[in-house]
Amino acid sequence: MASLHPNSVLLHKYSEIPPFLQGNPHIKDGYRVFLSYPMCLRSLCVLSNEFVNVWSHLVGFLLFVGLFLQDQASVIETSGGDATDRMVISTGLACFQICMIFSASFHLFHCHSEDACRRWLRLDLLGISVAVCGCYFTGIYYGFYCLDYFRNMYFALCSVLTLATVSFQLHPNFDTPHWFERRLALYAAIVMFGIVPTMHWAIIYGGEAGEVQLFLPKVVIMYLLFLIGVIFYITRFPERSFPGMVDIFGSSHQWWHVFVLAALLYWHNAGLEVFAYRKTMPCVQPGG
Ligand SMILES: [Zn+2]
Repeated sequence: MASLHPNSVLLHKYSEIPPFLQGNPHIKDGYRVFLSYPMCLRSLCVLSNEFVNVWSHLVGFLLFVGLFLQDQASVIETSGGDATDRMVISTGLACFQICMIFSASFHLFHCHSEDACRRWLRLDLLGISVAVCGCYFTGIYYGFYCLDYFRNMYFALCSVLTLATVSFQLHPNFDTPHWFERRLALYAAIVMFGIVPTMHWAIIYGGEAGEVQLFLPKVVIMYLLFLIGVIFYITRFPERSFPGMVDIFGSSHQWWHVFVLAALLYWHNAGLEVFAYRKTMPCVQPGG
């Protein structure tokens, strides 16, 4: 039975919601259904089962806007960065902002209608690809800072990968439940691709090189943060073991959001450290 909330946003049980919202049967209550866009915005203040999903990435978006302003105002100049550094670091942050705002918007507005749900889901999924591109862009730029040929080669490969991903996402079945495994396989592929330039770069310089010792553990930690998020996403733990007990706080998708945000924040910070390293250390020939 629906319960009346003080600001008139009704919350529903799983058995009462339309099929397009029935994605996770272990979340038993707290669903918003067929809200108008103004009511969706009003539900920002309602403890629904999307409250943490929306706010986690809305706060993430604001954090990346704040970091953009901070980097532009002082960090880049303090480390001796030039216009290209500003462009590279800003592009990375813009990609993360797009991911965060598309994700928050999907979780806020997808209860409006089935059509709206599909449209916002496409943007949410696109945002993940954009964030991965942002990670590659800064990583490849500073990783292969002294190796122009390989840097251009990996930029070209990433562009091809991005185009292939976007084409895949334009397929009419892309956002349907039947393509869940294919979506997962696509995202696994574009994320795991990053291991190729990382291994290549580590082999070129060798494990003893200062930059490899500085940067490689950061790549591993970023992947671990992302992997922990993916494990929550796939296993649907803890709601699978405690159905109905983590509807509002603590469900798997909320943990996925937190770990994605943590991975992107960590990557931005790691990028700034490697950028500062590049500005203080002269380029050395691999093995030199
Ligand atoms: Zn989400």
